Amino acid sequence: MKVFVIPVTPFQQNCTLLVCEATHHAAVVDPGGDVERIVQAIEQEKVTLEKVFLTHGHLDHCGGAKAIAARYGVPIEGPQVDERFWIDQLATQSQRFGFPPAEPFEPDRWLVDGDTVRFGNESLDVYHCPGHTPGHVVFVSSAHRIALVGDVLFAGSIGRTDFPRGNHADLIASIRTKLWPLGDDITFVPGHGPTSTFGEERRTNPFVADGVRA
Ligand SMILES: [Zn+2]
Repeated sequence: MKVFVIPVTPFQQNCTLLVCEATHHAAVVDPGGDVERIVQAIEQEKVTLEKVFLTHGHLDHCGGAKAIAARYGVPIEGPQVDERFWIDQLATQSQRFGFPPAEPFEPDRWLVDGDTVRFGNESLDVYHCPGHTPGHVVFVSSAHRIALVGDVLFAGSIGRTDFPRGNHADLIASIRTKLWPLGDDITFVPGHGPTSTFGEERRTNPFVADGVRA
């Protein structure tokens, strides 16, 4: 599986293009905006887009989802249904932050913990990781040892929990009980900033390293 990170929007959100090398079919995770830049990456790699996957309902993660899905005639899968109140606010959020107008939408499939999403010959496991937002999900390829964690975890930091229905204790529990058991060798693409590994964060992250009290 090839992984291309495409920073989008003024928030430099890490939209990710995943490509199944056997079939040249692809999925886009968190197309928050700058749709033309994402389209360019899809065309440059000469891949067939099959799915849009969403980690959560924040504007910079899903503001371009409806446009991409409509353009390619593909379904939107995720996040978990508790994100509906964020997706419903897309129009006002895009206005507030000076983004191009974004419309609310209904994902074709709401995800739950333990689900699997597929494209080409690839599959990703779905983990419900609330805290930053209540219906946030994380996508994990156990075969390729890679996770797409949205705004749950960053290199050296963790997601904000000061939004409506954010919860700091839930976020810490999500990271420690859902992500850490997957293995120190997992490389993760966060919603913003550089990639890291779970092992590196367990050693050095000031919020969730082993031995740091929640
Ligand atoms: Zn967010």
